[in-house]
Amino acid sequence: MKGGRPTFRFAPSPTGELHLGHALSALTGWKWAQRLEGRFLLRIEDIDTGRARQHFVDQISDDLRWLGMSWEQPVRQQSQHFEIYRTAAARLQGMGLLYPCFATRSELKAATAQLPDHPSDPDCAPLYPKLHKQLSSEEIAARKAAGQPFALRLDMDRALDAAHVISGDDSTAITYTALDESGTAQLVEACPERWGDAVIVRKDVPASYHLAVVVDDAEQGVTHVTRGQDLEAATDLHRLLQILLGLHPPVYHHHRLILDTDGRKFSKSDGAVTLRSLRESGMSREDVLRLIGEL
Ligand code: GLU
Repeated sequence: MKGGRPTFRFAPSPTGELHLGHALSALTGWKWAQRLEGRFLLRIEDIDTGRARQHFVDQISDDLRWLGMSWEQPVRQQSQHFEIYRTAAARLQGMGLLYPCFATRSELKAATAQLPDHPSDPDCAPLYPKLHKQLSSEEIAARKAAGQPFALRLDMDRALDAAHVISGDDSTAITYTALDESGTAQLVEACPERWGDAVIVRKDVPASYHLAVVVDDAEQGVTHVTRGQDLEAATDLHRLLQILLGLHPPVYHHHRLILDTDGRKFSKSDGAVTLRSLRESGMSREDVLRLIGEL
């Protein structure tokens, strides 16, 4: 904990404008930081360089200021820190926990289409069918020499074994601490295996969301991760990565989600509810707080 103070962060991806769900997320971290006299950070999660846009970064800052928030400078932009993610991935690779996967989207789709009742991960993507798990070193070398792009995937079975050895206890459970609305702590059992052999390093950039987020939370001394319940399952994988990388775990609070009138989570494509459009329609900050049940 830097300076002994609780540290919170809001970590949006600048691939669209903020909506009401983001407002609740940002305000939750901000409110708790105020309550605990902690630090509040803004982190721009822009590893998806093909989709991230600077004007969304600017819009995010405008919207958050309008909501009454301020944050420490400098703001971390993940695209400036690829080296640190490379180092973390190399560490996992050195432990024998990553393997290259050259499969294209259509190859993966075709492979899982042939498997009836094939399970999905928490993001509703079919679990990796382990297509390239057993490639020989000769084949890997040949594909690399031919310039085939590849992702690095976590060997989940090995990773779980390694985590238990590192944790040094007999219990097989991987746990994390979660806080409820009132701030009461609870030990939650994580189930990282539901992600299967997840992508840790993407084909196009030297990280994945999961790797970058755990590295940065540790690097920035984040002690409290407040984010929506839609990311609750991701915490299971994040906790595993923290154990493998020897990173101090934050505590987690997964807040309620703001749903649209059809009971669905707001998405970025739902332009009508962006904070910008609400502001432009004449709504005040208080109106927005009322809309998200925070006033
Ligand atoms: N960048 C992620 C998003 O915009 C949130 C990451 C996090 O809070 O851990 O959904």
